[in-house]
Amino acid sequence: MTHRPPQEQAATARAMGHVAYQHCETCGARAAFLRVLCPVCGSTDLTVHHSAGRGVVYSTTTLRTREGARDVSLIDLDEGVRVMGTVAGVPPEDVAIGLPVQGALDPEGGDEPRVIFTVERDG
Ligand SMILES: [Zn+2]
Repeated sequence: MTHRPPQEQAATARAMGHVAYQHCETCGARAAFLRVLCPVCGSTDLTVHHSAGRGVVYSTTTLRTREGARDVSLIDLDEGVRVMGTVAGVPPEDVAIGLPVQGALDPEGGDEPRVIFTVERDG
């Protein structure tokens, strides 16, 4: 694993539309937000990985603005990382805890990209 700066690795992940997370090679901690030091053990031996984007809804909120309602959820990814995102394609009221979702970065998101999740259908 190469040790490029985390921002650079994350930029590469974003360019590919991947959800990135950081893995501490010293203690194994994982974090969705990119840091210079491990938040658990303080190690600088951190690598950036791409999530497959699959997860389940941990908590959900409906955000109501003048533009309308949209979902803001915390999603537990299969890799063990919790990220904030928006579940799209269904009414915000229909987003439920435990719902299986598949996420990808919003290509319009710029430097602070949002993760857009869609509901995983069975079969
Ligand atoms: Zn650590």
